[in-house]
Amino acid sequence: MKKVILTGDRPTGRLHLGHYVGSLRNRVIIQNEGDYDRMFVFIADVQALTDNAANPEKVRQNVLEVALDYLSVGLDPEKVTIFIQSQVPQLHEMTQFFSNLVTVARLQRNPTVKTEIKMRGFGEEGEQQVFGSGVPVGFFTYPISQAADIAAFKSTIVPVGEDQEPMIEQTREIVRSFNSTYGEVLVEPQILLPGNLVCRRLPGTDGKAKMSKSLGNCIYLSDTPEELKKKVMSMFTDPGHLKVEDPGKVEGNTVFTYMDAFATDEDLARFWPEYKTLEEVKEHYRRGGLGDVKCKKFLLAVLEDRLAPIRDRRHAYEKDIPRVYEILREGSAAAREVAAQTLREMKDAMKINYFDDQDLILEQSRKYQ
Ligand code: ATP
Ligand code: MG
Repeated sequence: MKKVILTGDRPTGRLHLGHYVGSLRNRVIIQNEGDYDRMFVFIADVQALTDNAANPEKVRQNVLEVALDYLSVGLDPEKVTIFIQSQVPQLHEMTQFFSNLVTVARLQRNPTVKTEIKMRGFGEEGEQQVFGSGVPVGFFTYPISQAADIAAFKSTIVPVGEDQEPMIEQTREIVRSFNSTYGEVLVEPQILLPGNLVCRRLPGTDGKAKMSKSLGNCIYLSDTPEELKKKVMSMFTDPGHLKVEDPGKVEGNTVFTYMDAFATDEDLARFWPEYKTLEEVKEHYRRGGLGDVKCKKFLLAVLEDRLAPIRDRRHAYEKDIPRVYEILREGSAAAREVAAQTLREMKDAMKINYFDDQDLILEQSRKYQ
């Protein structure tokens, strides 16, 4: 079977460290290893509009921002097809067919949609209100459109953070349902989560469960060194660790979570040679006598080391914006071709290929002879 990699991101803001460790880093690794048949990365503007219908300009501006973020982390348009979701109309036709295979009850059980509905303030607490009249239909059904994004390219591997697990599961169900109803056309995808557990859902700088554009607790890949420093130095730590001598907690301490996500023993050798391993740093912190400022300075050095080359690449692409749009235009054309082929196969299987089906024409003619 072919190995097809696909992921997308919503153009609702610039991409941040959560995206990076949750998904982007894996995409770049796969790209560079080169062990795949095809790789797609897309900007989910149609999905972003499901909860930003009144704010199309925000989505429009962020399409370019996300494209710049993709290129800046090292995604290479020679190796990866980068496209814009709205420019592949076949996806929306597929969504329509898929929506007949999914019940309202099944959509209501999707835990990510539930959480997001609450987060976005469409409804108050409680099941009735959550799925009440305040939720746009398009938002409620976005897992179906996401299934189309994945199935259209016969994607086999989807590298994402853990909030996407229910989406991939729902996609698998839709694919199975389509194949058993109409015939084997589509492929069931597998989720690819980061191996490092803390990367599956990176918390925000405020210590909240998830770094998210919508929560304003992000370190962006494009932050300047000054912005980065400000955010790291004011990060949430252990509120009980008041004096340097006090014993400190490492669990739930965002600075340590970020160290787990980014820092290696080589980083310690380079930036903090007093310690050999992160475990030694944690031990000292737990014991007392290690201050937050020292920990934050180390984390800052590590993050600056990772972000500097990303920032530089971004600046290079920012100098040639028409080229970035050209990459997206070419990528979208290539994606359309693949999606159109899958849609043709789907329509053949569903027997809604009236004009290509000679048997149907013959059979109907006979009926009226
Ligand atoms: P929004 O608030 O608009 O939903 P978001 O910050 O949640 O934005 P998405 O575009 O929904 O970002 O997510 C894109 C990808 O990044 C998904 O694969 C998601 O799992 C991953 N991701 C987003 N935030 C994090 C995070 N904090 N930790 C790990 N992965 C994340
Ligand atoms: Mg999200």
